[in-house]
Amino acid sequence: MKKAKTIKRCPVCKSTDITFYMGGQFGQYKCKKCGYVGALIIEEEVEE
Ligand SMILES: [Zn+2]
Repeated sequence: MKKAKTIKRCPVCKSTDITFYMGGQFGQYKCKKCGYVGALIIEEEVEE
């Protein structure tokens, strides 16, 4: 079986340096690179 993992990507600057905003309690993410905060995030599946 192939293993796949999902990476999160910022919709603004395309950075993968994404963290949960306020610990994820609002269901939002924050980009550490450009400061984007929002629930909309690009999720990509990559094969390892
Ligand atoms: Zn960003």
